Amino acid sequence: MSATQFSSELRGQYKAKAYSATSSSSPLAPTIIPRRDPGEDDVQIEILFCGICHSDLHQVRNEWSAMPTVYPCVPGHEIVGRVTKVGSAVTRFKLGDLAAVGCMVDSDRTCSECQDDVEQFCPNMTLTYNSPDVHLGGSTYGGYSDSIVVKEHFVLSLPPNLNLAGAAPLLCAGITTYSPMRHWGVTKGKKVGVVGLGGLGHMAVKFAHALGAYVVVFTTTANKRDDALRLGADEVVVSRDAEQMRKHVGSFDFILDAVSAEHDINAYIRLLRRDGNITLVGAPPKPLPISAFGLLFKRGSLSGSIIGGIAETQEMLDFCGKHNITADVEVIPMQKVNEAYERLLKSDVKYRFSIDMASIKSK
Ligand SMILES: [Zn+2]
Ligand SMILES: [Zn+2]
Repeated sequence: MSATQFSSELRGQYKAKAYSATSSSSPLAPTIIPRRDPGEDDVQIEILFCGICHSDLHQVRNEWSAMPTVYPCVPGHEIVGRVTKVGSAVTRFKLGDLAAVGCMVDSDRTCSECQDDVEQFCPNMTLTYNSPDVHLGGSTYGGYSDSIVVKEHFVLSLPPNLNLAGAAPLLCAGITTYSPMRHWGVTKGKKVGVVGLGGLGHMAVKFAHALGAYVVVFTTTANKRDDALRLGADEVVVSRDAEQMRKHVGSFDFILDAVSAEHDINAYIRLLRRDGNITLVGAPPKPLPISAFGLLFKRGSLSGSIIGGIAETQEMLDFCGKHNITADVEVIPMQKVNEAYERLLKSDVKYRFSIDMASIKSK
């Protein structure tokens, strides 16, 4: 533990408004949480918008056995806001700057993953919520709050031209889809498939299109067709139509699979060309059966990916600034969050909820 961590404990804390769940079966409700007073390398941010990620819902309801939820739980890791205070050692931010925070708020900064700028794989990474809080004890609290204090290294700069409500989901849904596309070399001239047009998928379409690829959206129902084309798809394929699927066999450089429900991944592996890759960013609860033959005969690869490092997240935000990319959001007041969770379960949102934090301050 570093000296600053000790000294920030001594410096004390302040009260912030938030919404928390007190058990896996209780709804989110207003509460007051402690935040540490900013230390010398901390940035204090007034939260303006926070996106609702599917993992918020899973975590609040304690549905991940690998990551048991500690209550009270304040979720939220798609945070945008304005800087209200900076520590004396902070160099990249000043009062009034736009700032953003994603899924991580700390890491050891010394391991090989951190040195390679992939902090998301650091064994000592601290998640924005539901991780042990070394400063105040208890758990870290996320973005369903009016304020947060984060180490400068984990605070991102937000391009000034982006709509703030739509920019919030870039911090998880955005980087989760951008990072594997960059890793697997999605660029002009490549043929890219996107499976599942939800919060993640709709961002994938926008990125693949902006990167210059030929974009094909796979959907189970034809009624998403117009939306997919509007988001930047060049073609829409109904995955249940064997004839339509057959036309694309052996033709894809890269496929992003954003489906978290059970589905036949072999149907998509067949569509890869030589050295093609399919990356999973959704997490189906049951293991998927994979046909080895599907991969062998084209040297195909199957990968997973999760968010991205801080440097790459900044690169993604700058790319969004340049291409004016944000998520399609439905803005809601904090008070409607439980209703939004129910709708999220039915995929009844195009394509992400973004909480307007002005609502939490007014009550
Ligand atoms: Zn998320
Ligand atoms: Zn590390």
